[in-house]
Amino acid sequence: MDRPAWAPEDVDMQQASPARMYDALLGGSHNFEIDRKAAEVGKQLVPDLPRLALSNRAFLRRAVRFMVDQGVRQFLDIGSGIPTAGNVHEIAQSLDPEIRVLYADIDPVAVAHARAILVANDKAAAVEADLRKPDELLARVRETGLIDFAQPVGLLLVAVLHLLSDEDQPVEKVSVVRAAIPAGSYVAISHLTSELRPEDAGKLGRRAADVTHVGIHFRSKDAISAMFEGWAPVEPGVVELPAWRPESERDLHETPGRSLGLAGVGRKV
Ligand code: SAM
Repeated sequence: MDRPAWAPEDVDMQQASPARMYDALLGGSHNFEIDRKAAEVGKQLVPDLPRLALSNRAFLRRAVRFMVDQGVRQFLDIGSGIPTAGNVHEIAQSLDPEIRVLYADIDPVAVAHARAILVANDKAAAVEADLRKPDELLARVRETGLIDFAQPVGLLLVAVLHLLSDEDQPVEKVSVVRAAIPAGSYVAISHLTSELRPEDAGKLGRRAADVTHVGIHFRSKDAISAMFEGWAPVEPGVVELPAWRPESERDLHETPGRSLGLAGVGRKV
């Protein structure tokens, strides 16, 4: 298969990536055959997997709107993924065109594509950065000048922390970023969980370890709740993805009691 024009030159087309697999699950077009095959295998194991991806995007939309309602006027979206329908800058800037959004992702395809769609938008940008090295990530963020560290930040860690292993110390990484932003900031976290469907989580986790070099870590509710250490919980706390402040039937992509993801929002006090 030839490298498509949107893919960076040095991308390894034989290695599936979480960003492109997720794009394939959402029906996007920025993925390779190897990613589509991996997504297909996931769907064979757990047929409602695409609903999980939709459910997660719907949570992201609701969390952004909630934060805008609380007065947040700048977002730092870490592990932002390949742009797809309902990007953070589209949601936020439709509510207030002055809102600034900085995307950060480890995947060069995600960053290249984000930059391409943001060329005409001087209030949104994308940087390539690794959450496992939060000090370097924060330095990149500062270089852009887009985020004012004296003002509340809407920190989005949506479907990214399960790509960090326990050795990567996800709780500590979140707290480094938390320490850099002021009181009044918010965090939204969604995370794959083994809490409700341990068998399906186990199957997907084992399969992911075979096809990606990073692995996907399904965690318990307690482990996910620990990621909110230092943040005051916003009602209803850490719950199944569709149960976080659903706005309409449209948000109920997954059957209650069967979500493979948990989510919550916290406020820095
Ligand atoms: N946040 C988007 C959403 O929820 O729709 C995209 C989620 S996608 C499943 C996870 C993203 O996290 C991928 O784009 C992947 O490249 C990125 N990612 C994985 N590990 C990362 C790391 N250590 N630092 C920054 N981004 C990372």
